[in-house]
Amino acid sequence: MARRIGIMGGTFDPIHHGHLVAASEVQARFALDEVVFVPTGQPWQKSDREVSPAEDRYLMTVVATASNPRFSVSRVDIERSGATYTVDTLRDLHAVEPDAELFFITGADALSQILSWRDAEELFTLAHFVGVTRPGYDLADTHLPTGSVSLIEVPAMAISSTACRERVAKGEPVWYLVPDGVVQYISKRGLYTG
Ligand code: ATP
Ligand code: MG
Repeated sequence: MARRIGIMGGTFDPIHHGHLVAASEVQARFALDEVVFVPTGQPWQKSDREVSPAEDRYLMTVVATASNPRFSVSRVDIERSGATYTVDTLRDLHAVEPDAELFFITGADALSQILSWRDAEELFTLAHFVGVTRPGYDLADTHLPTGSVSLIEVPAMAISSTACRERVAKGEPVWYLVPDGVVQYISKRGLYTG
């Protein structure tokens, strides 16, 4: 039977428990063999702020996912030069394992931008899209082609990377918002201190 692979794309600056719960929930609900976390290269939607070096974001993602045998991390986006487009991510991962069935996991906020993504029609031929609930965003607000996207409710985690960065900058704790190893990595590398 074809392997079923989830793809969790993100800036992961830093990765937090909202990402991990979403990935775990979709893994279980869709009986995925694996969920691949794919940290972005220089993200085109975030060119307004400095994004941490790809290597730091990659390593935090590795640290956060290492203990889950079904989670892995891919470097395809950080090794491709230029901005990251989801269609390139899907093409690259499809090329690695052409027989696998791909499930692209995305939060409610990113889902509403899906139709503005590059090559939107091709996206739906490369993967199933799974939209997950995220506190503060309404899945019902997204107007998507019917049948192309599964919408599922995941345990609500009102956590964002933006809030984690702001907390670190203010000297507030991020314990229990991000995995312990990520707290330690942030402090070791002095990330987000401004
Ligand atoms: P930032 O605040 O920098 O935008 P973020 O917390 O939104 O960071 P991203 O790396 O932008 O994290 O998100 C990657 C993916 O994870 C997106 O599809 C996003 O919708 C989803 N996601 C992020 N946080 C949550 C959460 N708390 N619950 C569910 N999905 C989430
Ligand atoms: Mg985001």
